[in-house]
Amino acid sequence: MDLASLHAIVVGGATAGAAAALLLARAGARVTLLERVADPRAVGAGIALAENGLAVLESVGLGPAIAAVGTAVGRPRIVDGAGRILLAPPGPPPRGLMVRRAALQRLLLDAVAAEPGITCRFGAEVVASDRAGEVVVETAAGVERVRGDLVIGADGVHSRLRAAGDHGARVSKPGIAYLRALVTGVVARGEEAWTAAGLFGSFAVDGGTYVFASAGSRAVRRALDARDLDALRAAWADAYAPAAELLGAVARWDDLLINRVTRVRCARWFDGRQVLVGDAVHAMAPNLGQGANSALVDVAVLLDELRAAATMSEAFARYQRRRQPAVAWVARTAARLGGLAELTHPVARWLRDRVVMPLAARRAGDAGMASVLQEPTAALLAIGRA
Ligand SMILES: Cc1cc2nc3c(=O)[nH]c(=O)nc-3n(C[C@H](O)[C@H](O)[C@H](O)COP(=O)(O)OP(=O)(O)OC[C@H]3O[C@@H](n4cnc5c(N)ncnc54)[C@H](O)[C@@H]3O)c2cc1C
Repeated sequence: MDLASLHAIVVGGATAGAAAALLLARAGARVTLLERVADPRAVGAGIALAENGLAVLESVGLGPAIAAVGTAVGRPRIVDGAGRILLAPPGPPPRGLMVRRAALQRLLLDAVAAEPGITCRFGAEVVASDRAGEVVVETAAGVERVRGDLVIGADGVHSRLRAAGDHGARVSKPGIAYLRALVTGVVARGEEAWTAAGLFGSFAVDGGTYVFASAGSRAVRRALDARDLDALRAAWADAYAPAAELLGAVARWDDLLINRVTRVRCARWFDGRQVLVGDAVHAMAPNLGQGANSALVDVAVLLDELRAAATMSEAFARYQRRRQPAVAWVARTAARLGGLAELTHPVARWLRDRVVMPLAARRAGDAGMASVLQEPTAALLAIGRA
């Protein structure tokens, strides 16, 4: 298709939306980006960018800026509560950078603002959409209708566009919650521990440490209900000794973020002129660190298929065929890992640590990594640079 004649409406200005706007505008399309938050600042703590997400960002020239704010993740390692290695895949460590979410968001939005082909409208909430390419937008000035040749729903896990279209969506909550914090000082262990109280991870990020932990054990839930930081530290220190120092670095209760895991699965990734990307179409458990990375792959593949196909519906169908099975595998694997990390019964944990993890270690080779990354890095780089 000739992208230069297209007007694309992108709904949502976070990772998926900002990247979609950038890629499409660089490919010649006219883009209107609608973001409901008037002054968007990323909520959240850290985010691990893997080889696939990095390739998409590098393809639009953001490589040096990301490298400047990122910290290498190093070799992934899962240990038990006593620090014994449960899983440490052999071979050279995969490329990965831990960044502050706010830094990633700032870089993306600065690039979007500098792109002449993109009109950004913040404080613009899409309240309705249809399959013919029209969205209804609410702003401080009132309500208006905007029409595009295609509408990209990058509006996250609670997507308005998904609800408005015929996407055959299933939304489920496995009952797992995580707390997260960015603390000052590099006290990170660079590992994820699977303990009697669930998982606890800590990684260095740009002069600080990104800490995340399960919020499922009874003691942790009691501490959360009471908003009691000392009780939280004590509950975690019982299960994983380094947690005492790591949570000791959390200054205030309000520095903690709590997220419930939500999964979104869609039978149809597009409906008429509307197509979904990122969490809107495939929110997943965070255990493979592939939610945002997969969102970035989505937008690159969507652009690739828009270029290759003769019509919009053919492009969307090819996009879904290429992305749906790859993402389904990643989401299923992440959910299984999340379930394994949350095991609390001593017998189940013994079986996991002695039987399941050695088997998983044997499978975590190059083929496993290729499935996690979903698309070859060289192909992702080429799409954005074309
Ligand atoms: C605990 C946790 C840890 C994670 N760690 C990682 C990790 O290490 N690596 C990784 O790749 N992923 C990780 N993820 C997943 C990642 O955060 C998400 O997959 C990613 O942020 C999704 O991006 P998105 O742009 O699709 O959606 P969002 O980030 O949710 O953005 C949606 C945007 O749309 C806007 N919006 C919503 N509704 C409307 C509307 N009606 N009109 C206009 N605008 C609207 C919102 O304001 C927002 O800006 C993690 C998730 C969790 C919960």
